[in-house]
Amino acid sequence: MSLEDIQSRIQKAEAEAGREAGSVSLIAVSKKQPNERVEAVLEQGHRIFGENRVQEAAGKWPEFREKFDGVELHLIGPLQTNKVRQAFDLCQYIHAVDRPKLAKTIARIAQEEGRCPGVFIQVNTGEEEQKAGILPADADAFINDCKGLDLPIEGLMCIPPVDEEASLHFALLAKIAERNGLKGLSMGMSGDFEKAIALGATHVRVGSAIFGARDYE
Ligand SMILES: *Cc1c(COP(=O)(O)O)cnc(C)c1O
Repeated sequence: MSLEDIQSRIQKAEAEAGREAGSVSLIAVSKKQPNERVEAVLEQGHRIFGENRVQEAAGKWPEFREKFDGVELHLIGPLQTNKVRQAFDLCQYIHAVDRPKLAKTIARIAQEEGRCPGVFIQVNTGEEEQKAGILPADADAFINDCKGLDLPIEGLMCIPPVDEEASLHFALLAKIAERNGLKGLSMGMSGDFEKAIALGATHVRVGSAIFGARDYE
C-alpha cells in the first residue's frame, strides 16, 4: 500500500457512494512510525496527519512543521486534562472529547487563549468497558453540554469493536450525528475506511495501510 493507493481507493469509494469528490479528508495516522516514513509522505505533499498521544506528537511535529508548511494535525487518542494546553499548541483538531471534565477544560483554555482546536466527540458505540467515548444513550445530552460550552464541534468519532461488523457502528454514529445536527464523522481505519465512506465518513483515519506496520506490533 501507499499514499497514492489509499487516495485512489478513497476517490473510488466517494464516487460509489454518490458523494462529492474530495468530501472525505484522509488523516494519515503517523503514530509509532519511523520519522523517515512520515517525512516521505510529507514529501509527497500530504499535510493532514493524526497522532495518538500528545507526548509523541510533541516529539516530532514541531520539527516537521519547520520543514513543511500547512500541516494539519489531529489528536485522535485519549486526552488527559493536564495535557489540554499542550494539545492546543500542537493540534488543530481533538477527536476524543468524551467527558464533561475534558469538555470544560477545553472550554476554559479556549477562553484564555482566544482560540480552540476543532472538536470531535467520541462515542463508544460498542459500549466497551475498556474503550473511551461517551455511551450512545448519553451522547445527545453530552453533545448539548458541549454546544452550551461553545466548543467548535466538528462532529463525532468512533472506533468500532474489533470483532464486530464495523458498518453497524458507523451507521449508529451517523444517526446520532444527524439527529444532533452535526456534519463531521471521523470513522474508518485501514481495514474498513471504504465502508465508513459509504456510510458518510468525512474524516478517515488510516495508519498502517499508508505507512506499513507500526514498530511495536
Ligand atoms: C492507530 C489508530 C488509527 C489507525 O489505525 P490503522 O489500522 O493503522 O489504520 C485510527 N484511529 C485511531 C484512534 C487509532 O488509534
